[in-house]
Amino acid sequence: MEDNITILIVEDDKYIMSFTTIYLKDEGYKTISAVTGKEAISLFYANNPDIILLDLGLPDMDGMEVIRQIREKCNAPIIVVSAREEESEKIKALDLGADDYMTKPFHMGELLARIRVAQRKLNNIANPANSEIYTCDYLAVDHTKGLVFVDDEEVHLTPMEYKLLRLLIINRGKVLTHNYILNQIWGYGETGDAKSLRVFMASLRRKIERDTANPRFILTQVGIGYRFVDR
Ligand code: CA
Repeated sequence: MEDNITILIVEDDKYIMSFTTIYLKDEGYKTISAVTGKEAISLFYANNPDIILLDLGLPDMDGMEVIRQIREKCNAPIIVVSAREEESEKIKALDLGADDYMTKPFHMGELLARIRVAQRKLNNIANPANSEIYTCDYLAVDHTKGLVFVDDEEVHLTPMEYKLLRLLIINRGKVLTHNYILNQIWGYGETGDAKSLRVFMASLRRKIERDTANPRFILTQVGIGYRFVDR
């Protein structure tokens, strides 16, 4: 399966570019390299890559602008790989539509794991039927009937909780920022705020998690948002 996947690597550091390329080729991925933002965008149009690895500090433009331009055209997974550690930068990248954010320096094993998550997103885009019934460990969600089971017992969610759970499951593996969730659930200009989101999240967790202190499914990304486990 990996031989069909093409990864666009956008990175101006020659050392990081060369070891990332070597590792990914070794894993059977096809790679394309861009060292500037302009090159990244033109190679994106020319090659239609499946997954994009994106550095933010590029010589000619900010990587954020690259995310913006790619997202205008397609939904391909974008994994930001940046030295910027500030939460505000992570939130900005995720809000612009990046799927994941890794801080440099990073381990190749971790990058490969994130790429596998991105590949599952590609499968879900290609086969939406796969996501009609979701099961993971002791949780099962039947999206066709709107039913949720925990340990084979049906649990009753409010419409808002169900909407939240569905949003998390569809985007599993991906960090969703508070803003993103609020906009998706309450819509722009509505009265949703981070506090009410916490309240809904807490009641959803009480219903689906065996141990809310050590959540199995809904993980908190402190200061940023939430991530639904990938498996
Ligand atoms: Ca850089």
